[in-house]
Amino acid sequence: MRYLILTDIHANLEALDACLADARQRGFDRTLVLGDLVGYGADPDAVIDRVQHLEPEALVRGNHDKVASGLEQAEGFNSVARSAARWTLEILTEEHRAWLAALPAGPHPVDDLVEICHGSPFDEDSYIFDELDAARALKVTTRPLCLFGHTHYPAAFELARDGLDSAGPADPPNAVQIVEGSKHLVNPGSVGQPRDGDPRAAYAIVDQTARRVELFRVKYPIWEAQAKIVKAGLPEVLAQRLAVGR
Ligand code: ZN
Repeated sequence: MRYLILTDIHANLEALDACLADARQRGFDRTLVLGDLVGYGADPDAVIDRVQHLEPEALVRGNHDKVASGLEQAEGFNSVARSAARWTLEILTEEHRAWLAALPAGPHPVDDLVEICHGSPFDEDSYIFDELDAARALKVTTRPLCLFGHTHYPAAFELARDGLDSAGPADPPNAVQIVEGSKHLVNPGSVGQPRDGDPRAAYAIVDQTARRVELFRVKYPIWEAQAKIVKAGLPEVLAQRLAVGR
């Protein structure tokens, strides 16, 4: 079984389509989605259509999905995120809004090897940035590999018998081998709004048999996503940041 891993798509259809085209060439069987399908980008309905079409094996909600579907208020969101969430809530079809609001919270066990969450396995809204966050998260993971998103940074942490090891934005991981006896936390990075200084869309494929995660970056027509953001009347900073991956 090969899982396509998508997280933090953020209504960026061009980035999602580029990842899907690349992943289809590499081959995958099922899809796992780690939340934040919408918010920031101009194509929430089209992105939800695409994701529904993939018939994900598992899917958990993100904080933007909760606010943009009206499930939660935008407390804790900055003004840009808040106005994007408000815009998304207004434009979503009622069917998509209800579907988004009904997405389950993580963590969610997928099989004997993999579990998924949005932010962290102990709290869907918490961030895992550093080894301290990772150590806390690894205490509650129930599978050898826990996939997470939310930070928009590709990252990998391994709790081995002799301690905790990490690879982050300064030294982004390309692949992670799941080691017998170790516990791993891996963030593939964001499909639709990377923040690690690399503007290319990010996704991963987990090969369950080979016990291996491969992380990929894909170029996409950023200017198309930017033009739609501007045309929609969303804050222009959301268009600008796509070009620099910040
Ligand atoms: Zn996000």
